[in-house]
Amino acid sequence: MKKGEEIEFIKDGKRLDGRTFDELRNIKIEVGVLERADGSCYLELGDNKVIAAVYGPREMHPRHAQDAKMAVIKFRYNMAPFSVDDRKRPGPDRRSVEISKVSREAFEPVIMREYYPKAAIEVYVEILQSDAGTRTAGINAASVALADAGIPMKDLVSSIAVGKVGGEVVLDLNAVEDNYGEADMPIAMIARKNTITALQMDGRLTKDEFGRGLKLAMNACHQIYELQRTALIERYNKRESVKFEEREA
Ligand code: ADP
Repeated sequence: MKKGEEIEFIKDGKRLDGRTFDELRNIKIEVGVLERADGSCYLELGDNKVIAAVYGPREMHPRHAQDAKMAVIKFRYNMAPFSVDDRKRPGPDRRSVEISKVSREAFEPVIMREYYPKAAIEVYVEILQSDAGTRTAGINAASVALADAGIPMKDLVSSIAVGKVGGEVVLDLNAVEDNYGEADMPIAMIARKNTITALQMDGRLTKDEFGRGLKLAMNACHQIYELQRTALIERYNKRESVKFEEREA
C-alpha cells in the first residue's frame, strides 16, 4: 500500500479500530518498575509498550559539557530491534536523535534545572513495542519517571498526537492511520496550564483543522495528566502503607 492510497479510514463515524474521532487508545501506567533507576515508569498506549528510566541528578560527564548554572538534561529515545514489524537495525539513527532532542526540549520548561548546577539528569526511553505515537508515549512515561525520581518539576508534561485521516481530524493515530493518513501532529504540553512544550507536524492541515486538532490534543492531555497523577498517587500510597506496616511489625 502507498501513502494516500484509498483506505476506508472512517465508517459510520468510527475508525478502523472502532474508536470515535476524539477517543484515546487504552492507557496503562505503572510507576517504579525498575530497581536500579532513581525513577521509572512502564506505559502502554494502545499497542505501544514503553519503559522510561531516570538517573540523577548526578555529576555530569564529560566535565566540559557541564553547565555551571544548571543541570543538563540528557534524553535518549531508543527503539528495540524487536519493537517493529521488521527487525529494526539496533542503535541510534536520525529519527531517534530527532525524537530525543524534541523530547528533551519538551521537559526543559518544567524541570527546575537551576537547583542542580553542573549535574546531569538522564532520561532513557526504551520502546519495546511500537504502533505509532511512540514519542508521545515516551514523553508521558518520562514525565512519570522524572516525578518518581523526585526531580523537582513545575508540573507534569503530557503528550499525544492528533492527525488527519480520511479527511477527518482525529486523536491519537494508530500505525495504519499514521502510515497512510494525511497528517500527523504530535504535541506535548503542561496540561494544567494549556502550555505547549513541543509540537511537530508531518503532512498538511488547514488553519481550521490545526485549531480543531489542538483542541482534541488539549482535552486528551488533561485526561492523560489525570492518569499520570493517579498512577503516582497509587504508587506512593502503596509505598507509604508498606512503610507503616513495617513500623507496626
Ligand atoms: P511515532 O512512533 O512517534 O509516531 P513515527 O511517526 O516516526 O514516530 O513512526 C510511526 C510508527 O512507524 C512507529 O511507531 C513505528 O511503529 C513505525 N516505525 C518507525 N520507525 C520504524 C522503523 N525503523 N522500522 C519499522 N517501523 C518503524
